Amino acid sequence: MRQRAVRDQKRLDSGAVSSPKDLENLQREITSLAKRQGDLEDVVLEVMERRESAQERVAELTERVSSVQSKIDDATSRRDAAFESLDGETATVTKEREVIAGTIPADLLKLYDKLREQQGGVGAARLYQRRCEGCRLELNITEVNEVKAASPDTVLRCENCRRILVRTSESGL
Ligand SMILES: [Zn+2]
Repeated sequence: MRQRAVRDQKRLDSGAVSSPKDLENLQREITSLAKRQGDLEDVVLEVMERRESAQERVAELTERVSSVQSKIDDATSRRDAAFESLDGETATVTKEREVIAGTIPADLLKLYDKLREQQGGVGAARLYQRRCEGCRLELNITEVNEVKAASPDTVLRCENCRRILVRTSESGL
């Protein structure tokens, strides 16, 4: 289109076109070509601006993706470390339990395991200030007297939740 405009301009300048009508037509075509060129340049400019803003958006989103990804990586490594620590703790506690279980009479251990299964994982509870820490109920006076009268070897049970009651110096007896 630009070449055509140049060619038209050359023909006009050379004086080869002499008829006024042809001259007028040529002049009109040159004007029209110039206008179309201007319009196309506007379009190109607009496309370039849109491309630039799209590139900015891409850069911004890429940055956000990378920031989110680094948060994910961080959380994942913290989770893995927590898993590792829990595994270690589980192994230690399991070993400790084995050692303690080995010192408890077989029938008492059997009762404890049965209660633990029935009572949501807690088979024995501390008696603390006359209260069973398994079900949180306070022993009545009759129960307190029975506990007081029992020999240290007697296996005590909570009347309410049936868990094994463990006496300590803080039992409030
Ligand atoms: Zn209880």
